[in-house]
Amino acid sequence: MKMIYPNIYVDSIHDIALEELKKRRIKGFILDLDNTITLWNSNDISIQVEEWFKKIKSMGFKACILSNNGEKRIVKVAQQLDIPYIHRAAKPNPRSFLRAMHLMGLQKEETAVIGDQLFTDILGGNRAGLFTILVVPLDRREFFGTKISRMMEKLVMHKIRRQQAKK
Ligand SMILES: [Mg+2]
Repeated sequence: MKMIYPNIYVDSIHDIALEELKKRRIKGFILDLDNTITLWNSNDISIQVEEWFKKIKSMGFKACILSNNGEKRIVKVAQQLDIPYIHRAAKPNPRSFLRAMHLMGLQKEETAVIGDQLFTDILGGNRAGLFTILVVPLDRREFFGTKISRMMEKLVMHKIRRQQAKK
């Protein structure tokens, strides 16, 4: 049972105390994709998430995406964020976590795993002997209201673009 307990539990990646992790000598993150940095089955990255990646890079942290999904799904996000990735990771198999760690050139005690699922991200990270951080799934953080307003936003943007195209 202990194997599914994360070292820390936060609302989102934005709530991770980065300075604290630096003090713990964490130097890189293995990140889950779905519901951790993007909405489930979506390639859209929010501005806030993009900013977060800029911030961790500027602080000297490395990052790698680790996902059980196929390559097609991950490659765009990884390219946009300019970070390496491992697809079809077969999480919670610890081997893929160690591969991601090696890809960043880090040691176990320097690597933290960030994900929203206990039985894949956290279990796998713990099995590999890494520091584990659980986040609340993105879709559960999304209020119905924001979803509606996003839809409206898209509609409005679409209209504006069409009008501009006519000019
Ligand atoms: Mg996930």
